[in-house]
Amino acid sequence: MDEPLVMIAGGGIGGLALGLTLHQIGVKFVVFEAVQDLRPLGVGISVQPNAVRELFDLGLTEADLNTVGIPTKEWALVGLNGNDIYSEPRGRFAGYNWPQYSAHRGKLQMLLYHKLIDRAGAGAVRLGQRVSGYLTHPDGTVTAQIRHADGSESQETGTLLIGADGLHSAVRAQMHPDQPPIQWGGAIMWRGTSLGVPIRTGSSFVGLGTHRHRLVMYPISPADPKTGLATINWIAEVTVDNSQGWTSGDWNKKAQISDFIHHFEGWQHDWLDVPALLSRASDVYEYPMIDRDPVPTWQDGPVALLGDAAHVMYPTGSNGASQAIVDGRVLGARLLAYGITPEALSAYNDTLCAPLSQLVLRNRGAGPFGLLNMVEERCGGVFDHIDEVLGPQERAAFMAGYKSAAGLAIEALNAAESIIPAGMRVAA
Ligand SMILES: Cc1cc2nc3c(=O)[nH]c(=O)nc-3n(C[C@H](O)[C@H](O)[C@H](O)COP(=O)(O)OP(=O)(O)OC[C@H]3O[C@@H](n4cnc5c(N)ncnc54)[C@H](O)[C@@H]3O)c2cc1C
Repeated sequence: MDEPLVMIAGGGIGGLALGLTLHQIGVKFVVFEAVQDLRPLGVGISVQPNAVRELFDLGLTEADLNTVGIPTKEWALVGLNGNDIYSEPRGRFAGYNWPQYSAHRGKLQMLLYHKLIDRAGAGAVRLGQRVSGYLTHPDGTVTAQIRHADGSESQETGTLLIGADGLHSAVRAQMHPDQPPIQWGGAIMWRGTSLGVPIRTGSSFVGLGTHRHRLVMYPISPADPKTGLATINWIAEVTVDNSQGWTSGDWNKKAQISDFIHHFEGWQHDWLDVPALLSRASDVYEYPMIDRDPVPTWQDGPVALLGDAAHVMYPTGSNGASQAIVDGRVLGARLLAYGITPEALSAYNDTLCAPLSQLVLRNRGAGPFGLLNMVEERCGGVFDHIDEVLGPQERAAFMAGYKSAAGLAIEALNAAESIIPAGMRVAA
């Protein structure tokens, strides 16, 4: 090897943001992506201000992000009978220096992919190449074993290997062969998009119902000026008995509206007709709300984990994609400080593994939706005025605690130095 090479397993949002970071700081890299034909899969995703900040630092613009989503104005929880529990502004509307985005997951992935190959060349992302495992060598290098879409196999040797290969990470499975199976708490999510009139601010993230039975919805496109209709992303969620366990975790399992619409019968308000919204969806996907128990380390010598491979979490905090982006930036900063070395991976692991493992468990405990648990415990989810059930100070303190744990405290984020200052390059 004439020049250090960082190999990335997985071209999801995490792997691609890391690729863009490595290109920015002058580190040679290659991304192996299992899928042969990258398509804009998935539905809505939130990109928090801390991650938007990093995308801006990578040279993406608001105009770029406006092609994949819209700035989020509000985050709100509403009780079963339609009364407000909590609401707060989001992104720039809340005083962050950066917007929050409600985006289409697949369109964001394609945006990052095209930015990366425009900057680094088409060869930077090798499609149809699945990393099946790795070998570490006494000279400190690491070999990635690669299975190609046509069934053939090959190997690539580099300086470091980063497993950004998602929920079913092969890199993590080899690093932690005794890891427990996927953890499922009993919640099933049906996810889809429908055309609808955006409610409240026109760009509000709304959680409606109780913590065991709710609808989460937010628009991911601007409203058409002619029709007033926007693409509304929604997640219909019901918690069931989990004692039989769950066997799959496939982001693309199709479902029928008739499978679940009965759970939302009667969810009609003068400002929102839930059954009508759900019925208008074209494609619906069913997905269990799952995560993995944290592992004690994300590092094995020259190999490290990033994004969902490191810390797949319940989407309650809406920060899976955002944290995957931030992981890549922190890793880039440690490579700048320590060179393309396992020491850089240790420093990255020391910074993120413990706090993110805590966040995984916090999101399992409902994340910011914990307010719904509190309301349900106190009054069964039905109330006249929220102050009689949960006072404003208690609500504000709960949310402040979550935001601080998730790296989203407004003043702290605005005051924080850039993770990677502009113009930094790894020393030759
Ligand atoms: C198809 C798909 C649809 C999704 N839809 C949604 C959604 O609608 N809403 C939401 O909140 N989240 C969704 N997610 C999850 C969300 O994208 C992640 O939680 C978040 O973006 C963190 O991304 P990541 O890059 O760490 O992992 P992922 O987004 O899971 O990306 C991992 C990438 O690695 C590839 N890969 C997997 N194994 C290997 C391997 N062994 N070698 C090489 N490549 C490998 C995968 O094809 C994928 O492109 C989806 C994920 C996927 C893969």
